[in-house]
Amino acid sequence: MLSKGHTKYIFFTGGVVSSLGKGISAASIGRLLKARGYSVTIIKLDPYLNVDPGTLSPFQHGEVYVTDDGAETDLDLGHYERFIHTSMTRRNNTTTGQIYYTVISRERRGDYLGKTVQVIPHITDEIKRRILAAGEGEMPYDVVLIEVGGTVGDIEGQPFLEAIRQFTLEQGHQNVMNVHLTLVPYIRASGEIKTKPTQHSVMKLREIGLQPDMLLCRTEVPIPAEAREKIALFCSLPVEMVFEARDCDTIYELPLLFEQDGVGDRVVARLGLEPCEPDLTGWKNFVRRAKDPAGYVRIAICGKYTNLKDSYKSIIEAFIHAGVENDARVELKWLESEEIEAKGAARFFDDVSGLLVPGGFGERGIEGKIAAVRHAREQGIPFFGICLGMQCAVIEFSRNICGLKGANSTEFDPQSPHPVIDLMETQIKVEEKGGTMRLGAYRCEVEPDTHTFKAYRSGEISERHRHRYEVNNSYLERLTGEGLIVAGRNPESGLVEIIELAGHPWFVGVQFHPELKSRVLAAHPLFREFVAAALAYKLDMKSSEEKDILHEDH
Ligand code: GLN
Repeated sequence: MLSKGHTKYIFFTGGVVSSLGKGISAASIGRLLKARGYSVTIIKLDPYLNVDPGTLSPFQHGEVYVTDDGAETDLDLGHYERFIHTSMTRRNNTTTGQIYYTVISRERRGDYLGKTVQVIPHITDEIKRRILAAGEGEMPYDVVLIEVGGTVGDIEGQPFLEAIRQFTLEQGHQNVMNVHLTLVPYIRASGEIKTKPTQHSVMKLREIGLQPDMLLCRTEVPIPAEAREKIALFCSLPVEMVFEARDCDTIYELPLLFEQDGVGDRVVARLGLEPCEPDLTGWKNFVRRAKDPAGYVRIAICGKYTNLKDSYKSIIEAFIHAGVENDARVELKWLESEEIEAKGAARFFDDVSGLLVPGGFGERGIEGKIAAVRHAREQGIPFFGICLGMQCAVIEFSRNICGLKGANSTEFDPQSPHPVIDLMETQIKVEEKGGTMRLGAYRCEVEPDTHTFKAYRSGEISERHRHRYEVNNSYLERLTGEGLIVAGRNPESGLVEIIELAGHPWFVGVQFHPELKSRVLAAHPLFREFVAAALAYKLDMKSSEEKDILHEDH
């Protein structure tokens, strides 16, 4: 830690439209501070009324990101972990639902001693308490970055903005910075960029008493000097604090572009932190390799939320990290499981070198996934099953190798004659849906001489879970007797966490979600090895095709 002074706070608000990449901008600035040796954490304030996104459909909200301590959180926390390599906890994601829940529970206990409970001060106090708590600990963080979800002007975001205004007064202007992300649209027909939406969005902020210290302007085209000056004048900030946030080839390039433009130094100066040179060597190497890899491999992902790629955010990112470590670009081919049900698996696999079946819930599309797993098993195509994907692999193996007709998970067929995947003992009595799955980090002991052990180079690992169902241990003997390998178990409960297949080049299924722990400079070992196996498979196919051609020629 460089400074032992007051914790500094940087708020990120967004204007004009949503989806401007506030989370990635905050994470990028977090990276620039980390690269300067500061300890950093990032929190997200979500203005919706759900207590957490755990009960939201993936189509509504994208992936649910799970932390070590078992919180179901916004997918932006995944970006934070990947960018700043700091493990998040439940303190890093607060929703309006949680805030009201806390305040109303206090009111019911009588803690407000007969007072009227109101948005100001009670809700705003609870927001401020949570922001402060995020920075505290044995070693308080140097800088806490706070992303405010939604767009300035939304009714539901008002209490958060009011809380920031009060927070700035209480903590001191020198310790708090406001960064506003906005859109500067380009009107193609007239060949002009427009600054008015930004002016209006900043006006909205000022209405509530917030003045941005820095503007990050999302733009497709470079912003000319006069336009920047105009933005600065109308928005009341020095022109040096108006930056472009350009579209980039990979999100991991953004910290480097920001640094080049001087964003890092400006933040450090504004907060009175000690200036120093950032060390971005590893990051630069990563981006260089990500943009120009030597090899290439195509991997199929068979799921049912494939038209909303945000549902598989961490998996997509984990493949980028693993690709870099294998010096290869990983192209993902999305397979809709219901289409496989309708047309059969074989026709979809001509041009792929690996299959991943990700997590999921509910019966729709299950038979398609099982057919895809069968194809990968029979054809020796590298297979990686995650959570539901692993459960599908066990069902497929039970039906087609062990002859257990009708084998299934009780999630999809409660009357199955062979419930090879079943509800955990501890789940049977659970009635509430929110926050009641097997969640967060659990230990797992890995068997030596397995693909998994080779990947982790360790017999003891910890991974994050989010599921209710498990491999039914009463079928284990039948399964292992036919060649299923139990490669990892939870030492406390004996639950099966990892399976592999004897005699297959690379077939690994895991009950946990490894994608949640893949980092930019530390690809997840299983993703790394899966991509390596897919590359090896591709090479094998190529050389056997070449042999066939030679054969035909003679
Ligand atoms: N639906 C399955 C279960 O609850 C798998 C969950 C998942 O893939 N995350 O066990």
